[in-house]
Amino acid sequence: MTRIAFIGLGAMGAGMAANQVRAGHAVIAYDLVPAAVERASAEGCTPAASIAQAVADAEVVITMLPAGPQVRQVYARDVLPHVKSGALLIDCSTIAVESARTVATHAADAGFRFADAPVSGGVAGAEAGTLAFMVGCEDEDFAAVEAALTPMARTVIHAGAAGAGQAAKICNNMLLGVSMLGTCEAFALAEKLGLDAGRFFEIASNSSGQCWALTVNCPAPGPVPASPANRGYAPGFTTAMMVKDLKLAQAAAASAGASTPMGAGAEALFALFDGLGYGGKDFSAVIQLFRGRLSELT
Ligand code: NAD
Repeated sequence: MTRIAFIGLGAMGAGMAANQVRAGHAVIAYDLVPAAVERASAEGCTPAASIAQAVADAEVVITMLPAGPQVRQVYARDVLPHVKSGALLIDCSTIAVESARTVATHAADAGFRFADAPVSGGVAGAEAGTLAFMVGCEDEDFAAVEAALTPMARTVIHAGAAGAGQAAKICNNMLLGVSMLGTCEAFALAEKLGLDAGRFFEIASNSSGQCWALTVNCPAPGPVPASPANRGYAPGFTTAMMVKDLKLAQAAAASAGASTPMGAGAEALFALFDGLGYGGKDFSAVIQLFRGRLSELT
C-alpha cells in the first residue's frame, strides 16, 4: 500500500483516483471544488482540506489539472514547499513542453523526482483504468513512475527525459487532428461523388486510407456503431480539447523552429469550429462543416 496524494479530481482525475483506491492504495484527495472532493470520498479517498495537507505525508503525488498555469502554481506554491523528502511527483495534465521542463527543474532543485505523464484514453479510459501514459523522466526513475501509474493504465511508455511525455502527447494529437480532418474531407467528397458512406468505409478501412479516425472514431454515422457520430457527436474527445492540444503543438513548433503546416491548418479549422459554438461536441463533428450541414448539429 502506497500513500498517494491526488490533486485535481475533475472529469479525468475522479476515475484515476478511484482506480488507485481499488488497487489498495491510501489516497488523500484535494480539488478546489468541494463537490469533487465529496465524490472522491464516496469512492474511498480521504478528503484533504488543502494541497499542503494532502501532500504532507505522501509517498507519491499525482496531479491532474486543467493547464500549465495551474500546474506551475500548484507545484511552486503548494506541493514543493510542503511535500516530504523522497516523495515521487507525477503530473498527468496536458501542458506545454516548456512548462513541464520548468516544473521538472524546480522539483529537481528541491531534491525531488518528477515525471510529466500526460495520458491518452479520455474519461472512459480514466474510469476503466485503461489510460495510455507517455512519460518524461530520468531513466533511473521510470520503474517507480511505472509502478505508480499502473493501476490507472493499459500501457505506460517512457518517452525520454523531462518534457518528453508532453512532446509525445502533442505530436500524437496533432497527427490525430490532421488525420480526422483528412477523414472528414474524404467522406464529404465521397458523398458529393455519390458514393455510399458504408461502402467507402469498407474500402478505405481495407486500403491505405486506414487510420484510427476512420476505423474507431468514424465521423460519418453508420459504419462504426460505437463512434460518437451515432450519438449526436456527444464526446468522446471534445473539439475544445483538440484545440487546446493543437495550440500547444503550434507553440512547441514555433519555439523548436519546426515547420508544421498541416498542424497549423488543423488548429485553424478546429478553432473555427470551436468558435462557431461546437467546442463541446466530439471533434469528429467537424465533418458537418465539410458537408455544409452545421444546422444538423444540435
Ligand atoms: P477538468 O477541468 O474536468 O478537471 C480539472 C480539475 O482540477 C477540476 O476539478 C478543477 O477544480 C481542479 N483544479 C483546478 N485548479 C486547481 C487547483 N489549483 N488546485 C486543485 N484543483 C484544481 O479537466 P479534465 O478533463 O479532468 O482534464 C485534466 C487534464 O487532462 C487536462 O490537462 C486535459 O487537457 C487532460 N486530458 C483530458 C482528457 C479528457 O478527455 N477530458 C483526455 C486526455 C487528457
